[in-house]
Amino acid sequence: MDKNKQRRTMIIYMVTVILAIVLFNQFLWPSVLQSQVKRTNYSEFLSSVDASVVATVDLNRGDETITYTLRGDDSNKVIYETTKFPDDGTLVNRLEKHGVEFKATVPDTRAATALALLINFLPLIFFIYLGWRLNRTLKKSMGEDGTSMNFGGDGLFGGMGVGRSNAKEVKGEETGVTFKDVAGQDEAKESLAEIASFLENPERYASIGAKLPHGALLVGPPGTGKTLLAKAVAGEANVPFFSISGSEFVEMFVGRGAARVRDLFKQANERAPCIVFIDEIDTVGKRRDAGLMTNDEREQTLNQLLSEMDGFDNHKGIVVLAATNRPDSLDPALLRPGRFDRRVPVELPDLAGRTAILSLHAKDVKCLPGLDFGVIARSTPGASGADLANIINEAALRAVREGRSAVSQEDLQESVEVVIAGEKRKSTVLSEHEKQVVAYHETGHAIVAATQKGGAPVQKITIVPRTSGALGYTMQVEEDEHFLSTKQEMKDRIAVLCGGRAAEELIFGEATNGASNDIEKATSIAHAMVTQYGMSETFGMVALGQQRNRYLGGGTELTCSEGTAEQVDREVQRLVEEGHQTALNTLKAHRFKLHELARYLQKKETITGEEFMAIFTRDDGFAPKLQPQAQ
Ligand code: ADP
Ligand code: MG
Ligand code: ZN
Repeated sequence: MDKNKQRRTMIIYMVTVILAIVLFNQFLWPSVLQSQVKRTNYSEFLSSVDASVVATVDLNRGDETITYTLRGDDSNKVIYETTKFPDDGTLVNRLEKHGVEFKATVPDTRAATALALLINFLPLIFFIYLGWRLNRTLKKSMGEDGTSMNFGGDGLFGGMGVGRSNAKEVKGEETGVTFKDVAGQDEAKESLAEIASFLENPERYASIGAKLPHGALLVGPPGTGKTLLAKAVAGEANVPFFSISGSEFVEMFVGRGAARVRDLFKQANERAPCIVFIDEIDTVGKRRDAGLMTNDEREQTLNQLLSEMDGFDNHKGIVVLAATNRPDSLDPALLRPGRFDRRVPVELPDLAGRTAILSLHAKDVKCLPGLDFGVIARSTPGASGADLANIINEAALRAVREGRSAVSQEDLQESVEVVIAGEKRKSTVLSEHEKQVVAYHETGHAIVAATQKGGAPVQKITIVPRTSGALGYTMQVEEDEHFLSTKQEMKDRIAVLCGGRAAEELIFGEATNGASNDIEKATSIAHAMVTQYGMSETFGMVALGQQRNRYLGGGTELTCSEGTAEQVDREVQRLVEEGHQTALNTLKAHRFKLHELARYLQKKETITGEEFMAIFTRDDGFAPKLQPQAQ
């Protein structure tokens, strides 16, 4: 915007203000102040006096006016006003004669003028103030990005921060986070430790001529500690930490995001060595090829970010860290060497990592001695660091609820279930028949699981409804972690999932909707076997789908032709049906145990894996056709 335009805006503003003030004084104030005053003429006043209807008269209020009130007007609400006449000396007598109460007030001119001045100038002062703010805003938007007026948001009335980045600077010491606060993630830490050491001692690197990466990109699923790691780098190196979230860049007004980026880097430059952390960078850093749906603002911001990252002098020691869980959608320009050339994967923790994270967070709460975090870690495959931190907190909350002063193993166990399946739902009361159905269903899962070779042992079976909607569940816990699954293991898994429905069919001859979640899981395993893992006879080793959003569980998208898709469906159907048959056969072979265990479960509502195995493996004389696998 140029100077002329600015001047024109100011002139329009001034004219509006003057008009407003004139209108104000002419019409609004008088009508407010004199709404209750009626003007009359002198002869009317005199005839009112003669008719003895006047109650009080004020002779000298103001200079040239007489005000009076009439009798009969309730509580003298209406004030009449008339102009003073050159007095012939008879008025006072006349008033006396008619019994009017009269007085004369000497007006307090000073107070009146002060009040009048205030009333007249208050609006003016207000408008002048507004104009001053407007002017500032205009100047600022001109100076800072030169593209447009930024009247939005905090422009005119709000804070002064137009175009200022709202990166919060937290001093390294103040983040209070170091690598010690991040458990597991050893590879990520190692990779970032180098950056920390560079920031601590840039000269050492400069003297050899080594250049450190301008930026590192932390990628991984939500809750794995990306933000935490970035803070820890600043804490380790003891440098200022500027953090901003990608979404803060993207605002309604064009040019503002770019101004923020510029400002952020200016601040960082003054405080170098330091860390600039951009959280959720995918909001600005999306690929710029979106076709018709282009977003100018985002592109400008991204371009500014790219040029800033190229521009800064790395000997000073500014390192840009960014975090995202959608690396596939980032613009390739961001990823080229010289920008985010280092990619640090922050994956879901493995068994050892989960144990470490649990014990780390357990330090913040009071625990009974001898807690076994390994068991908890084993029953939470796929949990992120944030989930585990939440489990510890839930356990502490439960301990308080139960009136204990320290967290016990049982609290931990229960809170795992709360995180997995939701709270116990006391309001859901199952009828005896429904309870029976659920008991058979869960026992069905457990028996199929227990008969499989190498399957995860059953740890707990329960038919207490949960807030997630589950009416019961069977918990299986792996002995240890494995990273490869065979085709047989996947088929076994499908059979276990079919076990619930199979038991219902076998005993009640009828299906219920209680198996919907099982069906969904079984189908998705079968689908992955066919389309991703090359485990079907029909297709062999051909990838038929492409994974979307790996870190956000986006599932797969079929990339094959329609005809093939039909075949895929048939193959998936066949795999699930195979599992269903296996489950039916297993349960038929263990029919007696199924009855006994289901009744036991219905009575006790929750049984442990040991109780289950004790009954299941007990020799009653009827040897089943299939030998159970003792664990
Ligand atoms: P992200 O940014 O990857 O989504 P955060 O860094 O915000 O995840 O992590 C959320 C919380 O989870 C942290 O504040 C911390 O309490 C906990 N957490 C996650 N990962 C870890 C870890 N490896 N060690 C310790 N705590 C962790
Ligand atoms: Mg985060
Ligand atoms: Zn089930």
